[in-house]
Amino acid sequence: MTTPKRIICWFSCGAASAAATKLTIVANAGRLPLVVARCVVREEHADNDRFAADCEKWFGVPIVNMLNERYDGSIYEVFRKESYISGVKGAPCTRLLKKQVRQKFEKPTDQHVFGYCAEEQGRWDDFLDANNINAISPVLERGLEHSDCLALIERAGIELPVMYRLGYKHNNCIGCAKATGAGYWNKVRQDFPLMFSRMAVESRRLGVRIVRVGEERIFLDELKPGIGHYKDEPEVQCGIFCEMAEQEYSYR
Ligand code: SF4
Repeated sequence: MTTPKRIICWFSCGAASAAATKLTIVANAGRLPLVVARCVVREEHADNDRFAADCEKWFGVPIVNMLNERYDGSIYEVFRKESYISGVKGAPCTRLLKKQVRQKFEKPTDQHVFGYCAEEQGRWDDFLDANNINAISPVLERGLEHSDCLALIERAGIELPVMYRLGYKHNNCIGCAKATGAGYWNKVRQDFPLMFSRMAVESRRLGVRIVRVGEERIFLDELKPGIGHYKDEPEVQCGIFCEMAEQEYSYR
C-alpha cells in the first residue's frame, strides 16, 4: 500500500460517517491534506443540508459537495435515462450518483475514511477483501457501534438528521430503490406519501416489482397498507463503495 498523500473522509450525512470524519480530523491534526467529501443525491431529506452545515462547524473543515451533473444528482433522472431502477445489475443510482462521482474525484494515493461500525466487522472485512484501496474505519477500530455514533453526534449538540428522528435505520434517500421490505415501504407511504407515489408510478412504468412479501415480488401500488414490520427487516446500505453488496437484488 502506497503512503497516502491525502485523506478523503466520505461524509454521507449518516451518523457513523460524521463520527468517522470527526475522529479522523482530530487524529490527523493537520498532518496530511484532508478533504471531507459528500455526494449529493437530490432525494435525500432536505434536512441533510442543515445536518451537513452543523457538522461542518463541528469538523472545522468545509465539506466539498459533489454531484453527478448528467443526472442532476437525482435518482429519478437515473431511472429515466437508464430505464432501470434495481435488479440483477444492482441499483444504478448508487453506481452513477456515488461510485462514478467518487471515481472522478479520487487519486491512487488517497486514504479513504468510512463509517463502518463495530457491528459491521464482517461487512468491513468483505469490503477490504473486494477493494484494493487504502481505507480506514475509525469508528469500527475504536469499537463504536451505530448507537454510539448517534450519541456522539447528539453530545456535540448537533440535532440528528430527520430520517433518524423518524425512526429510519439509515439516512438513505426517501424511498430507497434498493429497499424491498413491505414494512419499510409502508413507513415511507405514511411519512412521505408523495415520494411513495412517485416510486410506485416509476417502478410500475419500468416493470419493477420492488416489494417483497413473503416469497413473492409485488408492485409498490399492490402493497396493502399496514403489512410488514420495518424494525425486523434487514438494513439497506448505500455507500460510496457499496455497489459490491448489491448482487442480491435480482427481481427485474
Ligand atoms: S440511498 Fe437508495 S435510492 Fe438513494 S442512491 Fe442509494 S440505493 Fe439509490
